[in-house]
Amino acid sequence: MYRTHTCGELRLSDAGQTVTLAGWVQKSRRMGGMSFVDIRDRYGVTQLRVDETTDPEVSAAVARLGREFVIQVTGVVEERQSKNPKLPTGEIEIRLTGLKVLNASQTPPFTIEDESDGGEDIRAKYRYLDLRRGPLKRALMLRHRMAHEVRNYLDGKGFLEIETPFLIKSTPEGARDFVVPSRMNPGEFYALPQSPQTFKQLLMVAGYDRYFQIVRCFRDEDLRADRQPEFTQIDCEMSFVEQEDVLDLFEGMMRHLFREVIGVTIAPKIPRMSWYDAMDNYGSDKPDIRFGMKIHEITPLVQGHGFSVFDGVEYVGAITVPGAAGYTRKQTDELTEWVKRPQVGAKGLVYIKLNEDGSVKSSVDKFYAPEDLQRIAEAAGAQKGDLVLVLCGARRKAQTMLGVLRIEMGNRLGLRNPHEYAPLWVVDFPLLEWDDETQRFYAMHHPFTAPKPEHIDWFYSNRKEDLERVCANAYDFVLNGVELGGGSIRIHEADVQQRMFEVLGISKEDADYKFGFIINAFKFGAPPHGGLAFGFDRVCALFGGQETIRDYIAFPKNNMGRDVMLDAPSRIDDIQMDELFLKSTAPEK
Ligand code: ASP
Repeated sequence: MYRTHTCGELRLSDAGQTVTLAGWVQKSRRMGGMSFVDIRDRYGVTQLRVDETTDPEVSAAVARLGREFVIQVTGVVEERQSKNPKLPTGEIEIRLTGLKVLNASQTPPFTIEDESDGGEDIRAKYRYLDLRRGPLKRALMLRHRMAHEVRNYLDGKGFLEIETPFLIKSTPEGARDFVVPSRMNPGEFYALPQSPQTFKQLLMVAGYDRYFQIVRCFRDEDLRADRQPEFTQIDCEMSFVEQEDVLDLFEGMMRHLFREVIGVTIAPKIPRMSWYDAMDNYGSDKPDIRFGMKIHEITPLVQGHGFSVFDGVEYVGAITVPGAAGYTRKQTDELTEWVKRPQVGAKGLVYIKLNEDGSVKSSVDKFYAPEDLQRIAEAAGAQKGDLVLVLCGARRKAQTMLGVLRIEMGNRLGLRNPHEYAPLWVVDFPLLEWDDETQRFYAMHHPFTAPKPEHIDWFYSNRKEDLERVCANAYDFVLNGVELGGGSIRIHEADVQQRMFEVLGISKEDADYKFGFIINAFKFGAPPHGGLAFGFDRVCALFGGQETIRDYIAFPKNNMGRDVMLDAPSRIDDIQMDELFLKSTAPEK
């Protein structure tokens, strides 16, 4: 038997027992004729003690230990002289009577403790050592608990966990596919699924009624901050449901996870907001509703005063920063530079200060009388002492910029408390999005999303304005300004699906080639159905109080999509290339 207990288990009530532990040497130190070793395993850390005079042999063996040696120790549990209240085992230590080295270790390239001195790259290269550290262990344990509770909840609601294939044909989530060449079918390729979307719908056609899967998805996108080329979804689909049924059930799941995993109670009814209201009031389709500072349109109030910048635009909007009228010139200049950064993309910033003494100060004093400025500021919800920030442009673009500015001001004012959870459903998305560059419509969610029944006439119209007005029964789950999941009620009639492809400018041949299987399936009695998927990595990170998902994935990729530990992707040898009928035209590295 390697051990009687784990390194996280012993307490004062175990004092006097003889025990055997096994684990890694986290660190050791000598002090006044005694040696101390911290031994670590997945469960915790326990202090070992050996006295040089009474146990010279064990003491000599301890002196030869290096960091990360794997050892087995035997000794007696004793109350500690100086207790460590931060450690669950901090009241005891083991007085060693025996020690065996199970395996030696090279000196690790960085300290393996909660706080590490290792940089990101070196820790990524030695991920298996980084994973020994407490914060990562806790992250993966939280992930495990989440997965377990997801299964618990959905199993309780009659969902079946069914696996779907990874080697498939292109899926329609709108990103680039990762492809896999087929040796047995020369010149042909599989695609890795961007999501199991079509399969889960086929499972509904097959009559499985309630499906879920905690499943890996693959998208070959440029990796903006905090994305991974392979990531995990909690993917779900249900038959004979309307939007309300789906929202109810998954509201319940989120409430269950909050309660069971982190002991947080969230509001009994999660608020709903239409996409249009989200854009108009928050400049974002994933508003952070922990704080106000809403966007106000002031276009009619500011136009016609001879200020050509405002006169020539579609939309002028403002947010009010409470209590910030005291901002200095330097501060407003800095904010102006801030909104000009490419991430925001504004050309400039106009401000109005409603000073405490009742006076008004603005960067556009020249064009507006004080009473006008006062009126504009009040329309933006300002009172004495507040600062109004104004941006303009094409409606949605200007709103989006104001949304980014709003989040920045929320951060600067400390209004985004990470321990407050404000979930929200964003609903009533437009079905389609027009792209000026390619002069065609794209599906805002994906092409299997159903138009709202009351908009079906517009959906069959050939006028762009009509098609732009069509709303979908689509919904996103948003938490604290982060989109955690989304889904929709699906199209289940073959002719509606075909119309959708037509609206998206996909030819009949192309639709048949890519999606013939699902259009066909819809001809064999497809039930009404709908579903959604949550980004599992991100849900875990948010529950863990972290912004980045990387710590919640055991073996993540870096932001060039590389696994630095494996050094992948890499070239394959010529024989493999030949077998696959492949030839690389990439330059030698
Ligand atoms: N397949 C969708 C996605 O990955 C989710 C859904 O519509 O259920 O975003």
